[in-house]
Amino acid sequence: MLIRKFDEDKDTPSLRDCLIELQEFERRVDPRMPAGEEIADAYMSDMFLQCAMSKGTIFVADMDGRVVGFATLLSQCSSGELDDGDIEFALLSDIVVREECRGQGVGHQLLESAEEQARKDGARWLRVSVLARNKLARELYEKAGFSELYIDFEKALTKGTNEMRDRAAVSDDYLDSKYIDAAIQQAKEGLASGGIPIGSVLAIDGEIVARGHNRRVQKGSSVLHAEMDCLENAGRLAAADYGRAVLYSTLSPCDMCSGAILLYKIPIVVVGENRTFQGPEEYLQQRGVELHVLDNAECFDLMQDFIAHNGELWNEDVGE
Ligand SMILES: [Zn+2]
Repeated sequence: MLIRKFDEDKDTPSLRDCLIELQEFERRVDPRMPAGEEIADAYMSDMFLQCAMSKGTIFVADMDGRVVGFATLLSQCSSGELDDGDIEFALLSDIVVREECRGQGVGHQLLESAEEQARKDGARWLRVSVLARNKLARELYEKAGFSELYIDFEKALTKGTNEMRDRAAVSDDYLDSKYIDAAIQQAKEGLASGGIPIGSVLAIDGEIVARGHNRRVQKGSSVLHAEMDCLENAGRLAAADYGRAVLYSTLSPCDMCSGAILLYKIPIVVVGENRTFQGPEEYLQQRGVELHVLDNAECFDLMQDFIAHNGELWNEDVGE
């Protein structure tokens, strides 16, 4: 493999393909991002402009005549901030390796070439910015001697005005207590049959279409949490049905059940309580699920009574 400078005539189409792939990869980490195909042309024009303004160099990784990755270095950047003395640095603005070529040191070689160029251009610092959740990229930079400089924090302020909800035509009375009461009824049935008192119901167009309760004990099952039992009882549904559904559970859904919620794109989840146990609620919200926690006393008491007498069973249920 050869690292060489970008040749505008020859490499533009493959650079574009790389960019699209990067965007699609990051979109899996942050689904708010637009599709790669939508932004590729504008992004490339902007990248060329920045190269012209900030002493930029684009390196491509050439594998037998095929471009499998690239890195863009801007050697003359400055922060524009008063408080750091408007520090000057080189910025690695993009680095991409095609998916099928990852893990072969391509990224590392691109990074080395960019670093060498930055030194030649007289830069004293090399910076790069990365999505906090992009673990692959973080590992690459940490191995290459980079350390964290700034960390951006972000908090989602909108609940309920998300993409999934907009697509869904969920009936208005979804917070009516009759639904959580039906889930509590399920929890009690589970308890009466020797199981863990967690219940769940699924409503579509305001109508309860399925009910379920935790049956791990009763069935000797590894997956029948209340939500899974309920979804299983609902049977095979069309995507459009899940898109209008609300899932109710007496307890905050765990990793497994949250996975099923995301998989089937159920837009709204109503939780009885999350004081006994809290699943990945923030993650569900980040992924566009509207989540309501009722902090229902009956749900809480059912679990507290149960755990007081059956601590071991409960620990097993949450994988401990
Ligand atoms: Zn679960």
